[in-house]
Amino acid sequence: MSSSTLLIAMGLGLGLIVGSFLNVVIHRLPRMMERQWAQDVAQWQAQQQDGGPASQALPAEGVHAHPYHLARPGSHCPSCGHALAWHENIPLLSFVLLRGRCAACSAAISWRYPAVELATAGLFAWCFWRWGFTPAGWLWCGFTGSLLTLACIDWDTQLLPDEITLPLLWGGLVAAALGWNPWTGLHDAVWGAAGGYLCLWLVYHLFKGVTGQEGMGHGDFKLLAALGAWFGWAALLPVVLVASFAGAAVGLSLRGLGRLQAGQPMPFGPFLALAGFLAMLLGPGYWWPYL
Ligand SMILES: [Zn+2]
Repeated sequence: MSSSTLLIAMGLGLGLIVGSFLNVVIHRLPRMMERQWAQDVAQWQAQQQDGGPASQALPAEGVHAHPYHLARPGSHCPSCGHALAWHENIPLLSFVLLRGRCAACSAAISWRYPAVELATAGLFAWCFWRWGFTPAGWLWCGFTGSLLTLACIDWDTQLLPDEITLPLLWGGLVAAALGWNPWTGLHDAVWGAAGGYLCLWLVYHLFKGVTGQEGMGHGDFKLLAALGAWFGWAALLPVVLVASFAGAAVGLSLRGLGRLQAGQPMPFGPFLALAGFLAMLLGPGYWWPYL
């Protein structure tokens, strides 16, 4: 077996396992955030009533009786609560063997689960094929996993959690400082991060000043800052342009199909992520010939 075949095989295997975990993060992280907000509000209300320290007013688990995080409760069917046996929880294979249905209640399992696993596998295989088992190979695997997770969470909930955008941003800066990112040095990465945040911040405030509406969320600023840290400042404009065109094309298509109402907000994060994937796969300078 040649070394590149081995790298691709390892990437596919690791990607399927990591993709399965990313599905858990995509499903649970927004719900964990909602629980945390509910708990914060309840604590604040208790504090207002008692005037005493909030920590005494509520039990450790706050307003929710059962623990809920990435490891608990174990994987189960969202329709009937059936706890998955190990053989129902194998990435990709279980979906095929179960023919996309829960073994207990026959409810359809979302195609998104195997799609995320396959996408992660393909992207990891590409990263290892392109960069080998080097720090750059592992770094770009981390980049793809984070970006895919953010895209799915934003599409579902219009949230871009700080828990992922900020480590992605810092990871890009540290990688550049260590010289592990072949595409950008520290100088370009710092200006990319600051410029990325600032340009969407400006767009947001201009849009809000003119229309009185919020055109995007603060998570979008942080995500573009992260992309600037990974690709350098020169990639910011093409990333924003590609994301805007892709977003407009998908938005118009969904409107045409009647699946998006006028005035209904659409997330920008998935399209920033798409532009990030293009820059990674084709190289951050791929757009020059098109200008
Ligand atoms: Zn079920």
